[in-house]
Amino acid sequence: MHSLMMDLPLTVTSVMTHAALYHGDREIVTATGTDEFHRTTYNQSFRRARRLANALASLGCAAGERLATLAWNDHRHFEIYYAATCGGYVLHTVNPRLFEPQLEYIFNHAGVRWVFVDPDFIPLLDKLKDRLPLVRGYVVLTSSRAMPASALDNVLCYEELIARESDVFDWPDLDERSACSLCYTSGTTGNPKGALYSHRSIVLHALAVSMPDATGLSANDIVMPVVPMFHVHAWGIPFRAPMVGAKLVFPGRYLGRPEILHALISAEGVNFSVAVPTIWQLLADHLEHNGLKVPSLKRAIVGGAACPQSLFRRFRDNLGVELIQGWGMTELCSVGTVNVPGPAFAGLDEEAKEGFDLKHGRPIFGVQVRIYDDTGKSLPWDGKTTGHLQARGPTVIRRYFGEGDGAAEDAQWFTTGDVASIDPDGNIRITDRSKDLIKSGGEWISSIELENCAMSHPAILEAAVIAAAHEKWNERPVLVAVVKPGLSVTREELIAWFQGRVARMCVPDDVIFVEQLPHTATGKVSKLDLRRRYANHLQSRKS
Ligand code: AMP
Repeated sequence: MHSLMMDLPLTVTSVMTHAALYHGDREIVTATGTDEFHRTTYNQSFRRARRLANALASLGCAAGERLATLAWNDHRHFEIYYAATCGGYVLHTVNPRLFEPQLEYIFNHAGVRWVFVDPDFIPLLDKLKDRLPLVRGYVVLTSSRAMPASALDNVLCYEELIARESDVFDWPDLDERSACSLCYTSGTTGNPKGALYSHRSIVLHALAVSMPDATGLSANDIVMPVVPMFHVHAWGIPFRAPMVGAKLVFPGRYLGRPEILHALISAEGVNFSVAVPTIWQLLADHLEHNGLKVPSLKRAIVGGAACPQSLFRRFRDNLGVELIQGWGMTELCSVGTVNVPGPAFAGLDEEAKEGFDLKHGRPIFGVQVRIYDDTGKSLPWDGKTTGHLQARGPTVIRRYFGEGDGAAEDAQWFTTGDVASIDPDGNIRITDRSKDLIKSGGEWISSIELENCAMSHPAILEAAVIAAAHEKWNERPVLVAVVKPGLSVTREELIAWFQGRVARMCVPDDVIFVEQLPHTATGKVSKLDLRRRYANHLQSRKS
């Protein structure tokens, strides 16, 4: 028996309509210069999105066509988010930090026709353009006055393009299961892979992540996404903030500039923000070094990579900010779990409360998780046993874009590539990535645990632990570390630091000091690079 409820689709258009009706005057602020802020509102942005939708129709864009962006977190990117998805096209956010061959692959694999590009990334496209035969033209995200020189063919100016169009546009009726957005993840093996999101998955993700026991978001919040909009929709913030009516504060191109993040937080009263550990570390260093505070900032989400325990403490004790860990993936519309205290938290002893920060929390509504061993056997939720983590739900991909073409290829469970334990309450704790685990004499050693321990040493700025080949034990952990400027620590002191803090067999065999660690395009430490360089370190040391 069918229900008698109205069948209105869950589309990004419904988010826009809601925001326009009830939160139209809420502000969107963007840092457009080191001390220049651009101000607009949701309604003004949606008006410009309608102009852009008319422009896309004039350009002859077809339904489902991929519209790529190479852009920062700003008001223009926000408009494209809405014009592209609500217009029935596929928004394709591209990470400009990827290596050239990866970018070439992604543009061609996705079949990109138009590229919306920030002037900062024109030199990148100048180099790539002859390898992008499918692209019909480029729209530069600036005004006619500021148009940069370029070697590109068919270049248009964004402000000119939308200025000549009407701000009246009838958004098409869209199927909630239709594709609305595409994001590639660079992964660690092979070519990048595309996650193709539906309108429905984006809306359900925005709703689920905004619930109070996830990251919670309300009309009273002032939100600054420091995760790039080219990385899984800045964890959904450009959809979630309009949905609830929160004020949006965009850092523009200054995502890695703590002094500008501080200025934005202070001037605009930002009380909630999301970023990867590296950014929070930069901000904490900057604030502590200059004796500054961020009184308005109450909550900050950290995720995307392992976060050292010391950072949670610095935020809570020195800055009065609750740093909350989340875990997620491109393949999960971003957020999978969030670590907020449940009813059992109050009853924990001090030590357990301290350790709580390092958990990754419970899945958001709709996401199921499970762990299994190498033979495929399901493992218990005892908070100790670790296994390969799988996930499923309406916000999880069932297959990658362009891979296979039938239900037979659809996965029932998505294998994350992460290793985790799950406690009886359903809290997960990521202990490693399958390929980063160290297997010493048949025992698994978690690289994340050792990295956390190294990072808690006052002289260590950044640390990564990799498996190095070992004659007797097959593999042994080796620490690669960056020392904070102005401080010093010896190999012996660091090894001693581990003793008593981790099991004896886990203490790294050696320490390699480096100026900096190699990072991937999404800011994660590239263990692949480190393994390439140091896999035989212990053997070469002996000889
Ligand atoms: P991406 O798709 O680029 O966002 O990367 C997803 C991967 O980042 C996950 O599979 C994890 O390996 C890692 N990751 C995400 N969040 C965390 C976290 N809080 N702690 C440790 N690793 C994380």
